[in-house]
Amino acid sequence: MTRLNDFSLFNAKAVAMAAERYGTPLYVYDEAVILERCRECVDMPHAFGLTVRYAMKANSNRTLLKIITDAGLNLDASSLNEAIRANIAGVPYDRIMLTTQEVYSGSEIRKLEELLLKGMQYNACSIRQLKLVSDFAAANDIDVGIRIHPGVGSGESATRNTGDDYSCFGIHLSDLAEVQAFAEAKGMKFRHIHVHIGSGADTKMWRKNIDLELSIIEQNFPDADTVSFGGGLKEARMPGEYAADVPLLGSYAKMQIEEFRNRTGRKLKMEIEPGTYITANSGYAVTRLLDKKRTFRTDFIVTDGGMEINVRPLLYGSRHPIYIVSSDGSRVISSEFDTNKHDFEAVVAGKCCESGDCQTLDMDGHAVPRAMAEPEVGDLIIIGGVGAYCSSMSPYNYNSHPQAPEVLFTEKGELELIRRRQTLEQMLENEL
Ligand SMILES: *Cc1c(COP(=O)(O)O)cnc(C)c1O
Repeated sequence: MTRLNDFSLFNAKAVAMAAERYGTPLYVYDEAVILERCRECVDMPHAFGLTVRYAMKANSNRTLLKIITDAGLNLDASSLNEAIRANIAGVPYDRIMLTTQEVYSGSEIRKLEELLLKGMQYNACSIRQLKLVSDFAAANDIDVGIRIHPGVGSGESATRNTGDDYSCFGIHLSDLAEVQAFAEAKGMKFRHIHVHIGSGADTKMWRKNIDLELSIIEQNFPDADTVSFGGGLKEARMPGEYAADVPLLGSYAKMQIEEFRNRTGRKLKMEIEPGTYITANSGYAVTRLLDKKRTFRTDFIVTDGGMEINVRPLLYGSRHPIYIVSSDGSRVISSEFDTNKHDFEAVVAGKCCESGDCQTLDMDGHAVPRAMAEPEVGDLIIIGGVGAYCSSMSPYNYNSHPQAPEVLFTEKGELELIRRRQTLEQMLENEL
């Protein structure tokens, strides 16, 4: 098993060169890691066909969308804008499925209808959404998918569980009778049945979801030909964490879908929607050490990129590996994955005026010192595992910090700027 998040001297040189060329803070994405994860998902065992959709909200940079769709993945979009954005990146609408909380009115409905005619698939996530699109779908012979709220979910934190009673994603099982009656009256058929139980779901829950969803289909959806198990494949960012075993999950899904065929005579195609799993460990935030401080109890290192680069520690208490690299990239001074014992411990803080602006927080928001070799001002502080839900999710204009640039570390080992740093003028351009 490859340790994708192991940080090598090779990587150290690349991030140091990126820092020198484009300034800090910035994001670097390792293309080889993305391609490896794409291959793993495309090669997942299946019974009667597999479509892998990359959940583009994880990271929607057009260059990454191009790499990922060229590797054979389709897309899951979370908003009309995401779908349009993917199309601008060159992805045809018939490779995009829209699963959203948005409810459209006016010109947005016309836009949705236009994209449906271009082949985009739509996954109804509420009765209101279903009703809004039903006449158009029926008139144009378009199948609408349905996202089921299964009543059980799993995520790495409560805020990332999308399937339990405290989240509102999808049409709840208790509403199915109403939905069925409505669909029948309209002459609609549900072929695509979808569940997404949460992000970083534990493997047991993922398997349970496979069983549950197949039984929901067996009992309620006689016309279904496709089952989507959603995303949530767990990625391991820190030492000691375990990533989802994709081949094993695939084998389990295959077996259960074959059993389903044996019981019902129906062959279901399968879909999955990984976001995190595809890009998370490809990403490194490259920041520079600005300052060192000490209180009675605690050492702090202050970097030039914090919550506005990676808000996940503040939002979820997520833990990310931290690497310290000499400013010229010639030395990895400290790595989460080395076996050295360090007696220096520090909280890694950012430069925002916000006490939660730390990369080392626990689930309750307390700053937790991390063991490392003691760095010096000017060293590069690299935060790993930031390829998903960092660039796309961070509150980057807080304290008027500009959105950071994104750089691709290509398979050939070259650095390619794929998004420029935002300027102060751009930050202000819509103010009147
Ligand atoms: C966010 C999302 C995903 C991806 O979740 P990950 O945890 O990043 O794999 C998949 N499907 C839907 C509908 C989503 O909203």
